[in-house]
Amino acid sequence: MNEDDDVLLIDDDVAEPSSENTGIQAGDELYKIKNEFESLNYEIVQNRIRQDELRRHNKTSSTTKELERWLICFFIGALTGAIGVVITVSIEALSGLKQKWLNNLFHPREVESHVSSFVPVLVWCWLDTSFVLISGLMCAFLAPVAAGSGIPQIKCFLNGVRFPKVIRLKTLIVKVLGIILAVSGGLVCGKEGPMVHAGAVLAGGISQGNSLSLGITTSIFEHFRDDHEKRDFVAAGAAAGVSAAFGAPVGGVLFALEEAASFWNQPLTWRIFFCSMTSFMSLNYGLTAMKTDLQFGNFSAVGLLNFGKFDNSMWYYYELPLFVLMGVIGGLLGACFVQLNKVITINRIHLRPSRLAKTLETGCIALLSTCAYIVMLYVNPYCRDETEDGPAGSAISMKEFQHLRMNCGPHQYNTMSLLSFGTPETAVKAMFHEPYDFFHSTTLLIFLPIYWLLACLTYGISVPSGLFVPALLCGATWGRLVHILMATICGVEKISDPSVYALVGAAAGLAGTVRMTLSLCVIIIEATGNLTLALPITAVLITSKAVGDLFNKGIYDTHIHLWGVPILEWEPPPNSELIKATGIMSKPVVGFRSVETVRNLYNELASSNHQHNGFPVTDANNGDYQGLVLRSHILLILKNRLFYDPSRPQDLLSLTELRSAYPRYFSVSETGIEEVDMDKLVDLRPYINKSVHMLTVESTLESIFRLFRALGLRHAVVVDKALKPIGIVTRKDIARFRAENEAVHRIPIDEF
Ligand code: ATP
Repeated sequence: MNEDDDVLLIDDDVAEPSSENTGIQAGDELYKIKNEFESLNYEIVQNRIRQDELRRHNKTSSTTKELERWLICFFIGALTGAIGVVITVSIEALSGLKQKWLNNLFHPREVESHVSSFVPVLVWCWLDTSFVLISGLMCAFLAPVAAGSGIPQIKCFLNGVRFPKVIRLKTLIVKVLGIILAVSGGLVCGKEGPMVHAGAVLAGGISQGNSLSLGITTSIFEHFRDDHEKRDFVAAGAAAGVSAAFGAPVGGVLFALEEAASFWNQPLTWRIFFCSMTSFMSLNYGLTAMKTDLQFGNFSAVGLLNFGKFDNSMWYYYELPLFVLMGVIGGLLGACFVQLNKVITINRIHLRPSRLAKTLETGCIALLSTCAYIVMLYVNPYCRDETEDGPAGSAISMKEFQHLRMNCGPHQYNTMSLLSFGTPETAVKAMFHEPYDFFHSTTLLIFLPIYWLLACLTYGISVPSGLFVPALLCGATWGRLVHILMATICGVEKISDPSVYALVGAAAGLAGTVRMTLSLCVIIIEATGNLTLALPITAVLITSKAVGDLFNKGIYDTHIHLWGVPILEWEPPPNSELIKATGIMSKPVVGFRSVETVRNLYNELASSNHQHNGFPVTDANNGDYQGLVLRSHILLILKNRLFYDPSRPQDLLSLTELRSAYPRYFSVSETGIEEVDMDKLVDLRPYINKSVHMLTVESTLESIFRLFRALGLRHAVVVDKALKPIGIVTRKDIARFRAENEAVHRIPIDEF
């Protein structure tokens, strides 16, 4: 109905699954594609207005435009890195304060004998619950779309679906503040996924030169105000986010490629890489400037999640089959994770209808997580001696290492505190780098199931939360367990270092859950900075994804399907060559003549039966198909009262005016059209996109799918032999076809 990120067709809650907007009954496999999700217009509208403007264009203006694109990419990268710095520094400061306070409460210096733990336990629960409740409140009441990692929403945007409110400043602010509080509040989540969302929002804002949230509209970059240009910048922003999160600029580019390959081209790839690199540098300079223990600009702070140095990464060729087996385990565990989370999400839809209930749920999960940490600390009997430099032989500095003594003796600490008391990043680093005998298998066996279940419960609640770190941490934990098992069977000197097993397990765990391929592989290799492990990591990722895919989709795709988003997958539906356009198109078509009465235009746009955004236009004389006109353009013509009078030259909207309302379009009642105007005429010819893709009755769903997927189409009109429009296909028709057919496990054979 409109082109707006701000004006909602649907309730806020559409950003998250709800029983009304998904049509899901618990256990119901029929995920309905929702009409409320609008498509983006990635096709460039090639009408006469645009052509006239291009004729007036000279070489200098296109060079200036190109330079501006690079400048925008620079700012997107620099600011994404800066946001990464703010998030990291704030989380470290807040968690550091919390941990110091709790440490003092648990083990006051002046009292050496046993003190009651009741007060510190209460304080710990209170702190975590309050942090998370504030995050949940902000999220539920200010920007529900900020919940979760944001990666699925950005995937949808790049795929061509407008996700309401996802690219907005308010969403960004809630996302940043929310993730700081959620991680500091000890929730089982990471800050890396939300960085992708943050980068994308920045890109959407900077490239448009305005902010709908703040009500600021400037004329800067106004020529970039269309879906096509915006999408390219959003892809750059997402890449910058990945780059800052993992210190992986190439991984960032590949992430954008993997999620949105339909519009890829060489100059765009190059620009996105530049953006990704800028973000990487900006984060590094920012972090090294802020942290006193780092030397400014020495590239020691390469990402939000630092895997640390893998010095001892040699592995033996005979371990490769074992690594592949670990890939199988990762795939199976990932599939279980997705399945359980899906069941929880579907039930959550029915159990938490109000925003207040969603907020309370976040508080309950926070309390549960903290209680679980405390229980794990108490039941873990393994202690280590305190040393000046953190855990003995450890890669973790004393500054990072916040430990608790709990039931250990004086000058000792509980090894579980590395996993459940510090930040999740410290825990991942500990898993990767602590020596072979540092963690006892019992500690890992206590930690793994509890943390895995908490991660499953947490993903999907109403707070910003990333899944990368929990998935990595669970994988690294069972990776170390496999190492302990192998060391017991074969002897520790015959197998590689525990860090290799932890990394392989982490890669398997992550791939089994998120099912990313190429980009994930490069992200992990870049994050470890070590090519020795490239082969095992690749083997593990391939296996893990393949095994997981046997059972279900990845976690992001599962949530996208639960929301009913009309996303187009990589491949056409099975047997789609047997289905013709007539089997999926809508008819009769609502269209207009090239010179149309205001009454007809007004009535169709105001119709309560449909809210179509594209209308085929036919020749007023012979009824031949001319091309498509957009609802937004008709609205602007009506609002500007550009009526057709054959006796005098016609006033036309300029390209700038056509973009003026983007992305906020008004309703037809706001055009100010009155009854006296109804019999006037409007000439649609200058606004018709004549370079449209047409389908014939013989076009197969397979070729239609590829056309839509590759070109990011929104509409395609089906014409008969005489070039008369007989039907229309939109992305929803294709997406709905797959969803419904997957749901009932049958492929209808077209009878046409
Ligand atoms: P979008 O909302 O994705 O931006 P849209 O509103 O024009 O685009 P859809 O919401 O995808 O179209 O369409 C919903 C249904 O209406 C689809 O089944 C589609 O085939 C049908 N439809 C869309 N446009 C027309 C039209 N001009 N005439 C008849 N049916 C249409």
